[in-house]
Amino acid sequence: MNRSLDRFFAAAFASLLFRGACAAVAAFLALGLFPLSAAAAVEVFATVPEWAALAQEIGGDKVRVYSATQGLQDPHRIDAKPSLIARARSAQLVVATGAELEIGWLPVVVRESGNARIQSGQPGYFEAARYVAMLEAPAVLDRAHGDVHAGGNPHVQTDPRNLFRIGEALAARLAELDPPNAAAYQAGYRNFAARLRAAVARWEKEAAPLRGVPILVQHKAFPYLQNWLGLKEVGCLEAKPGVEPSSAQLAGIVAQQAAQSAKMVIRPAYQYDAPSRWVAERARIPAVTLPFTIGGTPEAKDLFSLYDDTVRRLLKGLQG
Ligand SMILES: [Zn+2]
Repeated sequence: MNRSLDRFFAAAFASLLFRGACAAVAAFLALGLFPLSAAAAVEVFATVPEWAALAQEIGGDKVRVYSATQGLQDPHRIDAKPSLIARARSAQLVVATGAELEIGWLPVVVRESGNARIQSGQPGYFEAARYVAMLEAPAVLDRAHGDVHAGGNPHVQTDPRNLFRIGEALAARLAELDPPNAAAYQAGYRNFAARLRAAVARWEKEAAPLRGVPILVQHKAFPYLQNWLGLKEVGCLEAKPGVEPSSAQLAGIVAQQAAQSAKMVIRPAYQYDAPSRWVAERARIPAVTLPFTIGGTPEAKDLFSLYDDTVRRLLKGLQG
């Protein structure tokens, strides 16, 4: 039923109920001059599962969240499919990582959606990386070096402490887009932040044995995690980010291994495992798969079990 018919019947019904003295007031209400029901949920288009989960934690039943990717997809390489464009068309808020993570597909999806609300620079476009102290910003930018990101390393979600500032900013943005529910977004954020604060303290305690431990990484996916837990990256299997290493490069890593004595080689679950397995077998160290995001492993089901599982897998790797 369209809105004017809706209003017509509502007005008719109301005037039956409030005949006489109340009729004028009822008609006033039925015309929509007072908010009679809560506004529909804010439609959020998140590029990756971690931002979908964060929006859900903060927004609760005030938001309807869609994640453009799943845990085992490489977030650097997503196709700007028509189904994504269709989703973006009705979104009121895009929540992206930024720092060029989605540069290969999101600008196309946003542009093709024709949705003025979610264009870059509008309140309906949010980039998490803007609220984080970025690591690994290159001094010299040269695309010949692979997927090098001008704004620094985009994989900010691997340090849960980054979720405080991102979450606070996201709550403020939701409040800006949906002022009647501003208090609910602030409360949602405060509740999430309190639980996260307790969890971070617990993870840091559990992860204490990882401090100073030398590791190899397959992709530069974890500088924020390493910075958080004090892991020491002594080598990266990908000489160029996002480019599969050659066996000669891997052999070089194994040859250095004696001097570096890395305790494990880690990779994000979405990546092919052959390079880290190859090095792990020859260097006789464990190859550790980390979830990287929600859904990366069966155990990583939300923003809390994501880091539970990450810490648990690293500690298991340390045991050899
Ligand atoms: Zn990357």
